Amino acid sequence: MASQVSGRIASETASAALAAATEAYARRNPKSFERSQAAAAYLPGGNTRSSLYFDPFPLNIVRGEGCRLFDADGHEYFDFLGEFTAGVYGHSEPAIRAAVVAALNEGVNLSGHTALEAALGRIICERFPSIELVRFTNSGTEANLMALAAATSFTRRRRIIVFDGAYHGGVLSFAGGGSPINVPHEFVVSTYNDVDQTLKLIEENRGQLAAILVEPMIGSGGSIPADVEFLQALRRAATESGALLIFDEVMTSRLAPGGRQQAVGIMPDLCTLGKYLGGGMSFGAFGGRRDVMAQFDPRRPGALPHAGTFNNNVVTMAAGIAGLTRVFTPAAAEALNARGDALRGRLNALCRDRGASFQFTGIGSLMSAHATARPIRKPADAAAADAAVEGLLFFDLLARGVYIARKGFIALSLPIGDAEIDHFVDAVADFLDSRKDLVVERSTP
Ligand code: PMP
Repeated sequence: MASQVSGRIASETASAALAAATEAYARRNPKSFERSQAAAAYLPGGNTRSSLYFDPFPLNIVRGEGCRLFDADGHEYFDFLGEFTAGVYGHSEPAIRAAVVAALNEGVNLSGHTALEAALGRIICERFPSIELVRFTNSGTEANLMALAAATSFTRRRRIIVFDGAYHGGVLSFAGGGSPINVPHEFVVSTYNDVDQTLKLIEENRGQLAAILVEPMIGSGGSIPADVEFLQALRRAATESGALLIFDEVMTSRLAPGGRQQAVGIMPDLCTLGKYLGGGMSFGAFGGRRDVMAQFDPRRPGALPHAGTFNNNVVTMAAGIAGLTRVFTPAAAEALNARGDALRGRLNALCRDRGASFQFTGIGSLMSAHATARPIRKPADAAAADAAVEGLLFFDLLARGVYIARKGFIALSLPIGDAEIDHFVDAVADFLDSRKDLVVERSTP
């Protein structure tokens, strides 16, 4: 009873503290507010990208440089969001900038094939072990849509296993019971990292299962790594049941030179990519087994169509090539992820030393903050954390000049150095100390 009361009081205090932090944020950002209001005349809620919105109104960014962002009210931030992983290069990286300018100088919208798409295709096939053939799209969402189309067409089956809380795009979102605008595939929803449940569902749908679509680490759902045994079980069950295993590596491809598939040594049949692989320009790709991808070979009678005005746009192709060959090289990928592992180790040590109900999950350069000390194995575990305390972290970090996602997601970019990492660790330590009454372990009802 006593613990129930103290738990309730603590969460009321957290809500009150969050309200105060939100008000302070609103007072500090009048120009962002004005811009948000003005945009709402033309964009619903002033927004054209749902993931960027937060209450009371989002920051309006005017400029980026290296790993720094500048907002409309003149504040400067260390960018620890890195465009939700697409910004691994930092802002206006010189080699990418030069490649984009060179492409512009040769003319854009060329109405034809160029050497660039073949060059980027080769780099991607050579880098990611499961990709024998690849095709480009304009977003990760589109890449997943095409991978699912490839799988249903190849297997002549309709059902697709997905995981509760996973995000594969605006119309492929399985958080909170799924989105009302999801594409109408025959989805069967299982629980992430739950081998028994998933194998049971695969068995129940035997003969009808086209694909298993899985992120090797749940990304925007809270940086929750898959157990290697879970992915191995999916690999075996997909092979046995004749379904295709699709790894959504839109986020996780950056976690090792050849993606998470390389790190865990498991080959999916298809794999989807996006984010940073277009050098920071709009990008997506799907690729994998030669026989599955050959369905799209236009020289074949009855080939599957896959058009797209911007699939081979020269700006993205040139930026992608420069990014992968000159900036995010295999060695750079290893170093960035080692930096991320070290950072997460320091952050979790801070939490442990203070007995805080707080932790940072993730792999390498990607991580998420969670206001709970309980183990996080699936997105529902993350959703059970203290949302008000997580909101406070966001606003408290902003006030200390650190920008992360409102939901606590963090993605390192290459220009982030030791000084920025130290600043971030100090900012989190300050947060844990100044909010001690809210984050230190208390019995929950
Ligand atoms: N898959 C995953 C795992 C993602 O994280 C995202 C984007 N956050 C997507 C797909 C969709 O990519 P895009 O936003 O480029 O459509």
